[in-house]
Amino acid sequence: MAITSINPATGVLLKSFEAWTDEETGSALSQAHAAQQQWKETALSERSAILHHAARLLEEERIALARLMTTEMGKPFAQAVAEVEKCARVCRYYADEGPAFLADERILPNGNGSIRYLPLGTILAVMPWNYPLWQVFRCLAPVLMAGNALLLKHASNVPQSGQAIEDVMRRAGLPEGLFRHLLVGSSKVSGIIRDDRVAAVSLTGSEGAGISVAVAAGSVLKKCVLELGGNDPFIVLPSADLDAAVSTAIKARTSNNGQSCVSAKRFIVHEAVYDAFAEMFVSGMKSLTIGDPLLDTTDIGPLATKEGLVTLTRQVRESVAAGAKLLTGGQRVDGPGNFFDATVLADVPEDAPAYREELFGPVAVLLKANSLDHAITLANDTPFGLGSSVWTHDPQEMKACADGIEAGQTFINAMVVSDPRLPFGGIKRSGYGRELGALGARAFTNAKTIVSHD
Ligand code: NAP
Repeated sequence: MAITSINPATGVLLKSFEAWTDEETGSALSQAHAAQQQWKETALSERSAILHHAARLLEEERIALARLMTTEMGKPFAQAVAEVEKCARVCRYYADEGPAFLADERILPNGNGSIRYLPLGTILAVMPWNYPLWQVFRCLAPVLMAGNALLLKHASNVPQSGQAIEDVMRRAGLPEGLFRHLLVGSSKVSGIIRDDRVAAVSLTGSEGAGISVAVAAGSVLKKCVLELGGNDPFIVLPSADLDAAVSTAIKARTSNNGQSCVSAKRFIVHEAVYDAFAEMFVSGMKSLTIGDPLLDTTDIGPLATKEGLVTLTRQVRESVAAGAKLLTGGQRVDGPGNFFDATVLADVPEDAPAYREELFGPVAVLLKANSLDHAITLANDTPFGLGSSVWTHDPQEMKACADGIEAGQTFINAMVVSDPRLPFGGIKRSGYGRELGALGARAFTNAKTIVSHD
């Protein structure tokens, strides 16, 4: 089987890799296992120095790495550059803060009861294509800092990004075999999870992949962290600064070509400001430039895969057939690339795909709320619970939303973004566990209780 890299803006095949045999995968597992035995004995200062070196390489090579991501999965180039810089930041964050997060914690007086954070072993990271570098580095930095080995099974459409990460980490000075990019398809993942040389797994991806990984991990009682999809609400209440809410709404829906787990997807607007918001939002969406993601003038590039384009086209078509009103867009753009119009749907029936399912592309759903409670009820009317954004200047409304929205994060008067310092993750069908921050630093450690009466 070949694993291919295809430019989604042109349909041109960029590179093809032969998938690894089971023997090749087994050998990488053994090497990682052996390398981890040494690595867990290294000083935190040594691990930290390697992450700092990786950060420097990422910054120095950000243009080439960004270009690679843009040509491999279509994100606008400026966003790709920002992504590489963020990867450098997460490496530095764990290099600097890791020692404090991983230091022994004294719990009982006289030093005879404490927690020590020990590595688990070799961790498998199953990662998506939408942030080909960031998703990997936000897992890699804390996992390696804690003394684990890491094996990456990257999405099959971004093999060059996976190779580039391995190359950066090798040049940063990581011991041979401690981090490998496994060139395997998803059918191999369950077997790798069940392998005795693997201690735990972290998946970022879709609900379906999450179920499959959780079943495999559960069958051998291994820990898994699941960062899955979302259908994030973006609530706009009457006291909101409407100009700021609209411009952020457009960015929050179309950044990364609309393919972010924490993109705002459902815009729940109070009836007092609904018409004004809708008019400004639709006009803003219409003004966006769709095209070559390497050009500075492009706002929206292609969807990363043909399958994604087919799914989004079906979801919009079926929603319109079910009664949703199309305010703008609604079609794929003719030509060889996977381009889809910036689209806004209103009056979406509850049983339409656009109401219930995650829309992974530049398609927004407008919903009208008649009160704060109604807005929160609509926000929670989804199987997902990842991010949420609320626009209001009323402190009581802020508190009601922060307490009442079922999600892993609520941002007030801002769009949801990940930050190395803040825990990131979801509830409900968006998964479980947290990455980033102190929780991420310790996610793949054995929090061992040590009691000593000596
Ligand atoms: P995906 O199809 O689930 O793929 C993600 C990874 O899982 C890929 O490496 C894929 O391998 C693998 N995979 C797929 N099916 C699998 C299975 N049955 N068993 C084991 N592994 C499997 O997701 P995607 O299309 O790449 O990414 C988009 C999804 O990720 C969206 O739902 C998005 O919301 C979610 N996401 C979540 C977060 C978060 O932090 N919560 C962040 C980013 C994205 P192959 O490529 O070889 O199939």
